[in-house]
Amino acid sequence: MDYYMLGLMLLLLVGSVMVYVYYLKDKKEQLDSIKRGFCPQCKQNNIELTDQRSGGCSGPQIMMFECTACGYTNSFAVQDPNSCCGPNSCK
Ligand SMILES: [Zn+2]
Repeated sequence: MDYYMLGLMLLLLVGSVMVYVYYLKDKKEQLDSIKRGFCPQCKQNNIELTDQRSGGCSGPQIMMFECTACGYTNSFAVQDPNSCCGPNSCK
């Protein structure tokens, strides 16, 4: 086994995991900002919910947000605790 290649592959693996973790953390921070009503990009309260799609009882909701001030758009998969699968209304 070539140890140089093995080391390189390990480095790539660790690197991609770190990028993924950073991406998730960044995404969560953006969603937190949007939940407070502020655009994560320009920090103004011009964020609007443009589209909302439910993935059904089993899946999360896909929510699209757009900032009317700077044009920032992003979509988030949100697990809604008050969806159709509540304690009394699950079909
Ligand atoms: Zn903005």
